[in-house]
Amino acid sequence: MPSPGQFRGTGNARAGAVVDHRLSRRALINEYRRGRLRQDQVCDAHPELIRAATNIGEQTTSKCPICDTKNLRLVTYVFGPRLSPQGKVVSEKRDLAQLDGRSDDYSAYIVEACIACRWHHLLRVLPVGGKPARRATGSGGK
Ligand SMILES: [Zn+2]
Repeated sequence: MPSPGQFRGTGNARAGAVVDHRLSRRALINEYRRGRLRQDQVCDAHPELIRAATNIGEQTTSKCPICDTKNLRLVTYVFGPRLSPQGKVVSEKRDLAQLDGRSDDYSAYIVEACIACRWHHLLRVLPVGGKPARRATGSGGK
């Protein structure tokens, strides 16, 4: 089942920092183009990810780097307290905004996927939430 560890490129994510995974993505695509990786080694997206990409994925204007037939779709998963261990698939910007307003710390994993060949890669991990709990007394200065 999906979990942060299933996303290719995960590994050295630090909480609270935006982590960009485009370098590892490019390296992997290069490996594939040089013939060091087979297509089935890079196009192995979890069926749930493909389903989410098909149903609610955000269409991009970039063609899939592997099969070059379909445009990539973006799926955002959020992991954090009181969310499913498989992550919450966020389809609406306002859902993400709502989580961002909470005091709990969440991580949003933005994953690209190709519904034609099942290529997938983690693009970015963003910190979400972690806002200090608001008090009614707002005029506190520093
Ligand atoms: Zn593809």
